Amino acid sequence: MKNQNVSSHHSDTSGGIQSRYDTLKLIPWWDQEKVANARVMVVGAGALGNEILKNLALVGIGHILIVDFDVVEAANLTRSVLFRAEDIGKLKAELAAQRLKELNPDVKVALICGDITTDVGLGVFHSMDVVLVGVDNFGARIFVNRACFKVGTPWINGGIQELVGEFHVYIPGEGACYECNLPKEAYKEMKRRLSCLLPVEEVEQGRVPTTPTIASIIGALQVQEALKLIHGHEVAGGSGLIFNGLTNNYLPANFPLNERCLNHNPLKSVIAIERGASDSTFGELLNMAEEKLGSGTVIRLDFDLIFKATCTCGYSEQILKRLDKLSSDELRCPNCKKLMQPDITSTISNAKPWFLDKTLSQGQVPPFHIITARNTTSAVHFELDADRGKVLNFT
Ligand SMILES: [Zn+2]
Ligand SMILES: [Zn+2]
Repeated sequence: MKNQNVSSHHSDTSGGIQSRYDTLKLIPWWDQEKVANARVMVVGAGALGNEILKNLALVGIGHILIVDFDVVEAANLTRSVLFRAEDIGKLKAELAAQRLKELNPDVKVALICGDITTDVGLGVFHSMDVVLVGVDNFGARIFVNRACFKVGTPWINGGIQELVGEFHVYIPGEGACYECNLPKEAYKEMKRRLSCLLPVEEVEQGRVPTTPTIASIIGALQVQEALKLIHGHEVAGGSGLIFNGLTNNYLPANFPLNERCLNHNPLKSVIAIERGASDSTFGELLNMAEEKLGSGTVIRLDFDLIFKATCTCGYSEQILKRLDKLSSDELRCPNCKKLMQPDITSTISNAKPWFLDKTLSQGQVPPFHIITARNTTSAVHFELDADRGKVLNFT
């Protein structure tokens, strides 16, 4: 377990709680304290997410972080054990957190009502023992894969459609990552914002055809693999299973490492700094980086930042927004209503962009992120550790 700062007094001590886990403890290798100390992030509280979260809470995974931006819809109720009819319209992450506490008051739950690709800092991934993914789109999976391989956190992917499902385990430094064997079409599909076989409109409405039964099967396998990882059992990176529930055929599918894959370089020298995204400016961070690496150092963001918009009518304005969070309406010229041309950068240097005195939060850097600065030969990675307690607010 890589988190030393996890409280160890969370394990069961009182008589009533002790009896809750007695049957699990009959398993010779089961270690309830390891389970109670574990930190698991679950991406997506949909069909798979519900099953994953339910199982994590039942066995007493001590720290569960739920990431989901969506609200409950009527169509979710056929495959979401954590939601009720009266929940329609409410945030899935908040409801799931509440229901997990009801299932097992021992577990501590934190939640991020946001998008995994833009709202979850890399420090969050760094603090987890394992990440379980139950969202059905390439973009989110590729993002999680890259984040986990940067900071050395294993993750377990799940996918379901009709009666077919699959899971795979990815372990940084041990075998294949998700992108090692990903066909080029996946990137094209991601660009077109397509998910699996269906157009995005249907996916966004939660209409990927799935059943609660295949969600139970795959979600359970994902949690089972997580429990094996938490207990230190041998789990091969890239290993997984494809299960066809229509024919009851299953195929162990072990993905090979692709030597040319670019995702296998973990961040070296991550430095925790007592700063947060809302109280550090881009300029301050650049100065800290220059102290480490000398002049000529630049901040390299892992997303594109729009810092100016110009219209053909002559109007221009300073804006500060992530490209991946911008709607086209925000680029509409207030004078002539045409779309303005954005100026975009991911590199911030002392060439004095106007926003050096703006905070990272104002530049839509997520809290508890890890910011990379580099010169031509080396790099340093600042973890915004002052945000840790705010983001990982396990209660
Ligand atoms: Zn790879
Ligand atoms: Zn204009």
